[in-house]
Amino acid sequence: MTVITTEAFVIGSINLKESDRIMSFYTKEEGKISAVGKGARKSRKRFACSMELLDHLNISYFKKEGKEIYSLSSVDLIHSISHSQIDLKKIALFSYIVELIREFSPPGEANNDIFDLLIWFHRITLVESEYMLIICIFILKLLLYSGFAPQMNQCCSCSSKVDGKEYFFSNEKNGILCSKCVEDKCHDKPINLGLIKFIERINSSGTNMLERIKLSNREAAYLFKILDPYTRLILEKKLKSIDFLKEVFREG
Ligand SMILES: [Zn+2]
Repeated sequence: MTVITTEAFVIGSINLKESDRIMSFYTKEEGKISAVGKGARKSRKRFACSMELLDHLNISYFKKEGKEIYSLSSVDLIHSISHSQIDLKKIALFSYIVELIREFSPPGEANNDIFDLLIWFHRITLVESEYMLIICIFILKLLLYSGFAPQMNQCCSCSSKVDGKEYFFSNEKNGILCSKCVEDKCHDKPINLGLIKFIERINSSGTNMLERIKLSNREAAYLFKILDPYTRLILEKKLKSIDFLKEVFREG
């Protein structure tokens, strides 16, 4: 049996019988893991905090060879964003972000870039209320760090460089098509040069520079309409949190 101590973010929990919980974490050391917290719903002695969604924690757990679910031994809160000024938009945003992380992350694989992206998300949600922009940046970075970044600097079919003409985003081709190569203009959404440059800038910027990159609400909402079906195609499934997210954000 090995003891692992690491920073982690809460990305899910399921209540078990009595007061136990199975917790899902995105950890710095081992990426996505699951661990049982014995008495986690009751004992503040063992677990000093309540472990809300996206809480940033220091955790220790016992790991046994061959077992997929580990045993949580201690938890200390570093920072929580679930306790202050929580509203429907934030609930929808947090549910969507953790589902993206769960779906894109294979268990047991550490990825420091994704861990840093979660730290950025913590910081940005405290100061930025343009949630659609945050969502778009988060998706783009997660796609990049998971190896699914769309090709944006040249046409995916004829390889001609972007030069300011008309472009379309193709889910099937994993990037943009020029107007000569696009076959179905009803299916592939038009994407303007501003959005193409925005995506390239997000992809090439470190998380410490992301705050400087802006986009209007209208354009962020349009970009989300491009990115949402693209992520769905990659994951080959519809996210459970997506309808709630769309509903909450449609209402303004
Ligand atoms: Zn082309």
